[in-house]
Amino acid sequence: MKHILTLDQGTTSSRAIIYDQRLVPVVSAQKEFPQYFPQPGWVEHDANEIWASVLDTVREALAKSGLAAADIATIGITNQRETVVVWDRKSGEPVHRAIVWQDRRTGDYMGALREAGKEVIVQQRTGLLLDPYFSASKLHWILRQIPDGHARATAGELAAGTVDSWMIFKLTGEHVTDVSNACRTMLMNVRTGKWDPELLALFDIPRAILPRIVPSSGHFGVCDPSLLGAAIPVTGAIGDQQAALFGQLCTKPGLVKCTYGTGCFLLTFTGPDAISSSNRLLTSVAWKIGDAPLQYALEGSVFMGGAAIQWLRDGLGIIKSAPEVNELASRVADSGGVILVPAFTGLGAPYWDPSARGSLLGLSRGTTAAHIARATLEGICFQVADLIGAMEKDSGRKIAVLRVDGGACASNLLMQTQADILGLAIERPKNIESTALGAAMMAGLGAGIWPDCDSLAATREVDRKFAPTITIKDRHARTKVWKKAVKRAQNWETKL
Ligand code: ADP
Repeated sequence: MKHILTLDQGTTSSRAIIYDQRLVPVVSAQKEFPQYFPQPGWVEHDANEIWASVLDTVREALAKSGLAAADIATIGITNQRETVVVWDRKSGEPVHRAIVWQDRRTGDYMGALREAGKEVIVQQRTGLLLDPYFSASKLHWILRQIPDGHARATAGELAAGTVDSWMIFKLTGEHVTDVSNACRTMLMNVRTGKWDPELLALFDIPRAILPRIVPSSGHFGVCDPSLLGAAIPVTGAIGDQQAALFGQLCTKPGLVKCTYGTGCFLLTFTGPDAISSSNRLLTSVAWKIGDAPLQYALEGSVFMGGAAIQWLRDGLGIIKSAPEVNELASRVADSGGVILVPAFTGLGAPYWDPSARGSLLGLSRGTTAAHIARATLEGICFQVADLIGAMEKDSGRKIAVLRVDGGACASNLLMQTQADILGLAIERPKNIESTALGAAMMAGLGAGIWPDCDSLAATREVDRKFAPTITIKDRHARTKVWKKAVKRAQNWETKL
């Protein structure tokens, strides 16, 4: 039987999962790696430590599986997006720490571009909003930081890329990037799938430093046999959120998934149409499979999803583990009028308010830890509901069902609350690890293990469906209170 090795390179850990030909996970290994916070708001990774953690997990997974490297038909990659690595082409050594997507150091630079009126052109070309989140300003910063950075980049001495590109370079020696990752750099024209000369000029990035953009499923290169013991081809690479969309088989326009991890990421597949958002959502390339046209998604994210539950555990200490939130919140029938707006690090789409802060409102003498736990679950769900509302306005169509995945979707109470607040049916698959699954599917398609997306349909199994149980009137009343609370949380952290 053919096996697929998936490398899932996340923000805090790297994982390797080996799937069999029916996409059943056979074995997995996971390893955390160091995070560096040199200044408030700065987040860095050491690209060599990322790579070492990837190799360790692959070797561990292979050893646990009892399979030989030759039993692996192909490698698929999925990764944290936007994070930038710059390395010396000859030595293969990074020349600076990787700047992570969460890093806010280029906020002022992006603010200046906004004030110079550049947001419209950037949004039209990239589908993104001027925010330090994306790679372009981080790469601009690194090239100014290292000696002769710009000149060395222009001379072709340096290479840059997102984490997919770095991993493929270390595995195969090729300098390429997948289009779903490239679209999050703010340097690619989202409609053509090519680096955009005007954007390169705007951010002053020499073309010579960038990788070649290739499809998400196809031939990326062959793994150096000295690394794993066989010349395994790499045939899939895709950004983590797009991978989850594919892993959930959201391959027909209008299908939507939400991943409930540290944050919540909502993506709607829109097919070959790159829909421009009027509600401050982002337009991403979903994927490109071989020679088929580019496929697109509309995307919105919530910064504090499961992380709000972690705050109950680590900040308030009212639960000992994340799953305990369910038992605590179940002790009360409702939040007793308490609302938590989890804007601890500002609000993302559709508000994009970096000055908003977490707010706990509606407290009374009867408020208990159970009410706060319940309000926390509801706060996560209301944020996702705001994104769904923006998606429906942008796409002009009503969403019929929400497919869910990610660690926190294991909570039945969270999912039931989400169904109630949305007035939508929710569908949870048996395998909630959609990200790694999506990368395995991409790689399998690229290697010809399956002929097309339709042949993957049988692999998706539903674990449980959640239907709304509250009345429309009730839902509207609760949403109204939420909106009032968001207004109170907004525009809080202002300079005196
Ligand atoms: P990430 O990939 O972002 O690290 P995961 O998909 O592993 O996140 O999900 C972890 C998040 O899910 C944590 O923030 C945790 O609080 C939450 N979580 C995990 N299990 C449960 C559960 N049973 N009930 C509620 N929340 C949970």
